[in-house]
Amino acid sequence: MINRDGFSKSLWQNEAQAELAQRSMPGYTFDVVVIGAGITGVTTALLLQQSGKQCLLLEAHNAGFGTSSGTSAHLNTLLDTPYPDVISKFGKQKAMLAAQGAAEAIAIIKGHVDKYAIDCDFAYKTGYLFSQNERESQQLTEISKALEVVGISAEWSDGIPVPLPFDNAIKVERQAQFHPTKYLSALLRQYIADGGNYLDQTAVDHVDSDGAVQRVSAGKAIYQATDIVYATHIPPGLNLLHLRCAPYRSYVLALKLARDKYPDGLAYDLKEPYHYFRTAIHDGRPLLLVGGNDHKTGHEAKAEHVFSELEAYARKYYEVQAVAYRWSSQYYIPADGLPYIGHLPGGGNHQFVATGYSGNGMIFGTLAGRILCDLIVSGESPYTTLLSPSRIKPVAGFSRFIRENADVLKHFVSDRISQQSLTELSELAKGEGRVVKYQEKQVALYKDEYGKVYALHPVCPHAGCIVQWNSAEQSWDCPCHGARYAATGELLNGPASRGLRHIGLDD
Ligand SMILES: Cc1cc2nc3c(=O)[nH]c(=O)nc-3n(C[C@H](O)[C@H](O)[C@H](O)COP(=O)(O)OP(=O)(O)OC[C@H]3O[C@@H](n4cnc5c(N)ncnc54)[C@H](O)[C@@H]3O)c2cc1C
Repeated sequence: MINRDGFSKSLWQNEAQAELAQRSMPGYTFDVVVIGAGITGVTTALLLQQSGKQCLLLEAHNAGFGTSSGTSAHLNTLLDTPYPDVISKFGKQKAMLAAQGAAEAIAIIKGHVDKYAIDCDFAYKTGYLFSQNERESQQLTEISKALEVVGISAEWSDGIPVPLPFDNAIKVERQAQFHPTKYLSALLRQYIADGGNYLDQTAVDHVDSDGAVQRVSAGKAIYQATDIVYATHIPPGLNLLHLRCAPYRSYVLALKLARDKYPDGLAYDLKEPYHYFRTAIHDGRPLLLVGGNDHKTGHEAKAEHVFSELEAYARKYYEVQAVAYRWSSQYYIPADGLPYIGHLPGGGNHQFVATGYSGNGMIFGTLAGRILCDLIVSGESPYTTLLSPSRIKPVAGFSRFIRENADVLKHFVSDRISQQSLTELSELAKGEGRVVKYQEKQVALYKDEYGKVYALHPVCPHAGCIVQWNSAEQSWDCPCHGARYAATGELLNGPASRGLRHIGLDD
């Protein structure tokens, strides 16, 4: 079973863990160190290794621990950022390149599936986008025109594959779907077969660089490389990209239907946030995936209720026999609508990053593999100008922002509280967490299933914001840049690089 950064179990975790990690390295010097084994890291490492670069892939937990096992795995050229927006922000030529990139990513995935005979339920599907009121119908008309401009062929459709009322719909052929962790495990296996090195349970603590050599510290080990790639979904540390990527949580249900027809196609409404539908095969039987109800990370006090709302929404249209799986996961919305793939801002010529994928990271994570491989091997990629993270202008006051937030850390809560105060503070149900006030200061409390209470500093070590309890995933989530921590404080996902501090108890 694959572990992931959440308490709820996703449909994709049932795969056997790919036992491919080595326990020791043949040496400490590589051409490229790739950090993070989600779809971005594994694709990038594979393509680089096949281009003749000797790679080391380092993963803090296990392959697929991040959003790559919390995804819904649609493969679209229809992007989350509607093409009219892409055209207005980037111009027609660049919008065409974005559409071409999405199609190239689907082709890369299909190419891998065919070449390595990967059994991952890959199937081309028709994608449907539908409107349910006049405003959405106008929007759909705009989208339809923009699709023609960027070279994606769309047709008006009389029907949609889901039993929802709709006013208008368009359909786009050659979208696709697959099983993400089956695909990921197969790519990783191929990377190892091609001579790539892989360590799991190896968190990178920091990277030093003198320009030509990157020194990657992970525990006691230091690995050297000419180039490094942050394939960590969001880069660690404080970087301009954290001001340009907003973290969001998104929810998915996998439903067993009583007698209804499972959709043979991918369907999306035009709500804000939108809902989507697809069918997935699990143990030889179909399940309906319904997703949506996204919100900014750490901004929903009752995350558990979001599942109930999504389920009530699905039950309006389907006779649901059982909720087989339900899970939530994280993604990052980029400020101008397209991802940041290329040189890490402030990282020099040999540090690379890929982030800000919105809900299209299966596509953009794959495209990132192609782009980063090209940049590292030849210094060039057709997508450099479109997706370069250096299109971000330096932000006035950024260093002051970092200093001020670091100051917050110093002035926060004391390091110890008494056992008695803790008992008074901790009127929590088992499995519940809450940030409470104690002597005008804040403490994050969590009671585990045995009744043991943990007291933590609620200050996110990344930039000093106060974390919020996420009841759906039993985690502490930072509302500022999306760092997440287990109920007992351990780091689940960046951009922080350490967990929440524990508060000691006096008798
Ligand atoms: C609910 C949901 C549904 C989605 N549906 C779709 C969809 O249908 N289609 C689509 O295209 N996209 C979808 N997405 C987006 C897509 O799933 C993600 O963008 C994509 O999985 C990101 O992959 P990644 O490899 O960049 O990051 P991740 O999968 O998050 O991998 C990052 C890895 O880096 C590791 N790591 C982090 N820090 C360190 C460190 N310091 N040292 C070592 N390792 C580290 C982590 O443990 C993790 O394994 C969805 C997202 C969500 C939340």
